Amino acid sequence: CGIFGVTGVVDASNFVALGLHALQHRGQEAGGIVSYHPDHGFNSARRFGYVRDNFTKADVMDTLPGQLAIGHVRYSTAGSKGATAIRDVQPFFGEFSMGGCAIAHNGNITNAIALRRELIERGSIFQSSSDSECIIHLMARSIQKSLAERIKDALRRVEGAFSVVAMTRTKLIGVRDPLGVRPLVLGRISDHGWALSSETCALDIIGADFVREIEPGEMVVIEGNKVESTRPFTPAKSRFCIFENVYFSRPDSIIGGRSVYETRRQIGVELAREAPVDADLVCPVPDSGTPAAIGYAHESGIPFGMGIIRNQYMGRTFIEPTDHIRNMGVRLKLNVNRALIKGKRVILVDDSVVRGTTSRKIKDMILEAGAAEVHFRIASPPTAWPCFYGVDTPERSKLLAATMSEDEMRDWIGVDSLKFVSLDGLYRAAGEAAGRDAASPRFCDACFSGDYPVAPSDKIEEGFEM
Ligand code: 5GP
Ligand code: SF4
Ligand code: MG
Repeated sequence: CGIFGVTGVVDASNFVALGLHALQHRGQEAGGIVSYHPDHGFNSARRFGYVRDNFTKADVMDTLPGQLAIGHVRYSTAGSKGATAIRDVQPFFGEFSMGGCAIAHNGNITNAIALRRELIERGSIFQSSSDSECIIHLMARSIQKSLAERIKDALRRVEGAFSVVAMTRTKLIGVRDPLGVRPLVLGRISDHGWALSSETCALDIIGADFVREIEPGEMVVIEGNKVESTRPFTPAKSRFCIFENVYFSRPDSIIGGRSVYETRRQIGVELAREAPVDADLVCPVPDSGTPAAIGYAHESGIPFGMGIIRNQYMGRTFIEPTDHIRNMGVRLKLNVNRALIKGKRVILVDDSVVRGTTSRKIKDMILEAGAAEVHFRIASPPTAWPCFYGVDTPERSKLLAATMSEDEMRDWIGVDSLKFVSLDGLYRAAGEAAGRDAASPRFCDACFSGDYPVAPSDKIEEGFEM
């Protein structure tokens, strides 16, 4: 999901709409905005579909006045799948004795089922099936005097990954979990406003200056010109999601002082060194494989070409909720550039293999178009473990790499060769010259390594074996 908030600007909700539009790649199912105006109180709008189709119209935006607003774009990783109900769309809102509070959450709470059970037993009435709603109910049970302190209390009970943007009548609040699994950055709008955003690309769109990242385990409370920082949690070693670098973030965002585009290009360089092959053409599977393909072509000296063309009017395939629609999605979205491919030995570069359905269909299309050979190069290690921290990977049994060796995957997909970048190569590309430090890895890489930095307690209770 993507989260965004602004304070100190007229018509804050318009800024939030723009920010969410720039974060649309993080969630395409639905979006929501809450604003506050002293004369009109809190107002909210939650809609299915794209930001640009909902939060551009006067009949929606005119209902969201004020100088303080937050928003959320959703892709479901917890709660109801497929048929998302509008009640699951964030931000969530609660009225407390000290005023209202709205919350937008990116990540996944790994003890949400246990918390929900406990809260319901003690009288909470849940409105949604989302794990994020726990935060509001935990706040309601806190005895703290201020909403900011109640948010701290609530988040101290929550396990897993959370980047949170919240607002009261006067304050804009940002929090990152102690491991800093999901991103969150602070921006400055002229000399009077502030923004909180999942990624820097959404600061660019509103002309805000990047100030700094909210640090793992940090809470910032912004009021007027003041940004107050505290550390509510037991300190831990940070474990940012390495998959944000591979796929999830936008390539024009900056993470940890490093360009995401450059990291991805460098993964391609590592791949070319680790897994060279004699061929005529390096083609990306667009758009997610493009920077790595550029790096691969550059390092190998093999010409780069757009052998697959993407229809720009489709979303990301994996956002489609059912397998059936996902399967159709590949052909609706990608087509082969026959004139370029015919008779050539082609290296296809993609960011990841999850179920393998995308790779298999693309291989079919490339062979039908007359390619002489097809070699797959993947800009991440085999995805063998599900993510429990906010990225929608399917259960383990549906992950190709969980049940097959690399050679078996090559044969199942039906290509001449298949190679994945190593975990060390991925770390080098992300700026760790020495590769992955097994004793203390800098990133979360659980979907590749099975090394889960936070025990997924709900899943373990359901029988998941690490
Ligand atoms: P597959 O067809 O192997 O299940 O999906 C792989 C394709 O989906 C890749 O091209 C990749 O760009 C995209 N993808 C990236 N991340 C995810 C994810 O978290 N889940 C799913 N299902 N697909 C993803
Ligand atoms: Fe990111 Fe993978 Fe860790 Fe999930 S398991 S947070 S996708 S690195
Ligand atoms: Mg892709």
